[in-house]
Amino acid sequence: MNKPKPQHVPMDQFKTADNCLLVNGQSVLEIAQKLGRTPFYAYDSNLMTARVKQLREALPKEIHLHYAMKANPMLEVVKHMADLVDGLDVASKGELEVALQTGTAPGNISFAGPGKRDEELLAAIEAKITINVESEGELARIDKIATRLGSKPNIAIRVNPDFELKSSGMKMGGGPKQFGIDAERVPAVLKHLANLDCHFRGFHIFSGSQNLKPEAIIEAHDKTFELAIRLSEYASTPVELLNIGGGFGIPYFPGESRLNLEPIVANLNRLLPEVLRALPETEIVTELGRYLVGEAGVYICKIIDKKVSRGHTFLIVDGGLHHHLSASGNFGQVIRKNYPVAVANRMERSEEKELVSVVGPLCTPLDLLADKVELPVAEPGDLIAVYQSGAYGYSASPHGFLSHPCAREILV
Ligand SMILES: *Cc1c(COP(=O)(O)O)cnc(C)c1O
Repeated sequence: MNKPKPQHVPMDQFKTADNCLLVNGQSVLEIAQKLGRTPFYAYDSNLMTARVKQLREALPKEIHLHYAMKANPMLEVVKHMADLVDGLDVASKGELEVALQTGTAPGNISFAGPGKRDEELLAAIEAKITINVESEGELARIDKIATRLGSKPNIAIRVNPDFELKSSGMKMGGGPKQFGIDAERVPAVLKHLANLDCHFRGFHIFSGSQNLKPEAIIEAHDKTFELAIRLSEYASTPVELLNIGGGFGIPYFPGESRLNLEPIVANLNRLLPEVLRALPETEIVTELGRYLVGEAGVYICKIIDKKVSRGHTFLIVDGGLHHHLSASGNFGQVIRKNYPVAVANRMERSEEKELVSVVGPLCTPLDLLADKVELPVAEPGDLIAVYQSGAYGYSASPHGFLSHPCAREILV
């Protein structure tokens, strides 16, 4: 039997008017008309602003906030975010170029990522941003390039911690990892660093992402500060910068709710006096991507066809996996679950519902945006909205697959 899968509804961050979803006051029908086509991602600048404001009000003032650009590297979005946060974290030369266009001071831009090419290291050294070094080999290449340029690179050591962030969607530290230098090697690397002509800035300790459990984030913070203080004793110059990573998640699926910041903030307030005593010259930074922009975006596509196959109704839309890999469940999900979806021009609760699956135009069963959900009865021409699409959407998708047109993006 076809049973509807529970949906995470309603997502209450977007308002509606005249039965239609609004993004920062504009109806998605209007936006579709303005762009001249679907599918598109629409990002609500007001929601991004509100999220940063709310977070800043909650966090202790000693904690600086950076935006991790890879969550959403659209130029307009990055420009908007750059005005709200204290710095940007980039993961490639391409992102660095965007970051520099925002006018963010180089001292507030950092570059993490394994496998930085020489060309990227060169650009980072020339731009005088902070390079989060991921390996001893990378450090040697930085030193070589900087010596050739006659330039003093700004170095932070990305540490692969000796602990794991529990219950995080994506583990980025602990155990053998391609990220960072193993914590136990860091004392030796610091000793070596003292002989190089470079500017040691501090540490970057990032243990995982998409975490919705305050107790896990609290534990990561406890261990991160403890590790940073322990490692700082091996540094021959003061630690100017400590990037404690991020990991704050957003709800996508039934049963998930928005992260409760209160216990996390209380714990930071508890830890800070001791941390500031041990690291008096240190600027503490948390870097977040998804948490800042994820809930502010929707992906909108149009129903092209509606068909019934052996009793099950399919809404076939003009967008899908090629634009929104994560909503299709193919970007890090172990068991596929539906992102929250709605019929964007039939938002009234009173609309009659039916059980449908929303599929894209690609010739693969993986191109599934919503599996067996109760949605208002919809017809070709209606618009489907996929919520929670502001992060790891457009730029995390294989647009070239099947050679359909790319999605558009708009910051409203
Ligand atoms: C991806 C990434 C982030 C951002 O993670 P979110 O889950 O989007 O907050 C932060 N720091 C580093 C080093 C990353 O690679």
